[in-house]
Amino acid sequence: MPADHIQRRIREVSNLLGKAEALLITAGAGMSVDSGLPDFRGNHGFWRAYPPLGKLGISFERMAQPYWFTERPAMAWAWYGHRARLYREATPHPGYRMLREWLQAMPAGGFVVTSNVDGQFLEAGFEARGLYELHGSIHHLQCVTPCSDAVWPAELSDLQIDLDTLTAAGELPRCPNCGALARPNVLMFNDMDWVEPRAREQARRFDQWLARVRGRRLVILEIGAGSAVPTIRRLGERIAQRNLATLVRCNPDAAESDDGIIALPMGALEALGAIDEARRSRRVHAAGLARSGAMAPTRAAERTGDVPAPPRGQHAAPRATIRLRLGEIACIDLETGGIELAWPQEVGADDGAACLFAFADHPSGWFPVPATSVHSPCGYQMRLIEFGAGNAALIAIISRDDDAVLTIGVARNSDDGGAIWHALYRTALSPLQPLECPRAPWIARRLDTDSPDHRAMVPELMQVGRIAAIAWLKFKAFEDWQRENESDD
Ligand SMILES: [Zn+2]
Repeated sequence: MPADHIQRRIREVSNLLGKAEALLITAGAGMSVDSGLPDFRGNHGFWRAYPPLGKLGISFERMAQPYWFTERPAMAWAWYGHRARLYREATPHPGYRMLREWLQAMPAGGFVVTSNVDGQFLEAGFEARGLYELHGSIHHLQCVTPCSDAVWPAELSDLQIDLDTLTAAGELPRCPNCGALARPNVLMFNDMDWVEPRAREQARRFDQWLARVRGRRLVILEIGAGSAVPTIRRLGERIAQRNLATLVRCNPDAAESDDGIIALPMGALEALGAIDEARRSRRVHAAGLARSGAMAPTRAAERTGDVPAPPRGQHAAPRATIRLRLGEIACIDLETGGIELAWPQEVGADDGAACLFAFADHPSGWFPVPATSVHSPCGYQMRLIEFGAGNAALIAIISRDDDAVLTIGVARNSDDGGAIWHALYRTALSPLQPLECPRAPWIARRLDTDSPDHRAMVPELMQVGRIAAIAWLKFKAFEDWQRENESDD
């Protein structure tokens, strides 16, 4: 069971996929490993798989060079032929099926880009016209010379491979044009002779697809792409930036970074399985809510506040200058910017005050603030994420099924406004609206809701969001004021 903050990210990814219009899957070696295919990085595993290469001290990087097809063709073909059969016989793991289902559900379709040469996406039933194998495919051949740009499907049934000596006997594949030796149409190390047109044609279709989905809600799911040869990682990062898409990185070494990547530090199948489960439970949950009508809160329910309880064990180290204990609420006076402790029942709806319900940092960087007591609509809660040394923030109003229904971006200085605008725009599901707000240097909001239940709540949510945004600004101003006074002492 993944840790809480990972679970939260998995739900976030599940929600993103639920709202996405287009899906780009980018995959590296880690995607294949879960089908039982070897990852040849590191000599130990490589030489265990091919003992003759261990005796000769030939690494994967040295073996994967076109040189061997002219120097030792029988060895080169024993190795590549064996790999081709291994890949051909492998059964794609269930993660491929999940990805195919998600991709097929996208209104604007999807595309797969992979550095894997094993053909597993095609084997798993993905369509060839939505696939870009940027390092080629071991199941296709080309001329070693090469005498032309011809690429043809590999037919290796005549090849007899002796793994003990790593030699291939029988008729080695030949070029039908000139009769020279053939080789796999994969990009090798130090490879000047790779015949590119097949991959170039795939790349052209990929570019066309990218152009078609520009402006649509695009999610990039990067799976098992390492940092040793970061081609796949860089490609996804570039597209995420250019197309303002969200990039989800599934890899055991994935780390949360500042540039908006959602990191799932897990293996491919584990991550995909967890997302799939979240998607299924989300659908069940939504169906249950629709049946019970639970998303239509009554006026009475709104008045009771329904302040969400903070997660347990996360209020140990208060982040704010004033120390709040569980259950206490800070009242921010919108006229003076003053702040004091208050209880929910003491704060009226119309006295121009907003309440902060603050506790320690959530591990994911989100923490629920401020549950404005009387303004808090039933079943919704708020989250805040801060940017740029606390000068800018996103305040999200989250529904029960973890949808961000309304997101307010707020910055204390116009200098920080750009970051907020970009963060909002990148994930926006609807046009951004500048929010008129006196004394707030910079506020914008986006509204993400397709559900009639949420739409009914919109006026209320707008009001809550606006107060929360002002409260945040006031709270920050108060922190500054307090810091200045402390330094005067
Ligand atoms: Zn030829």
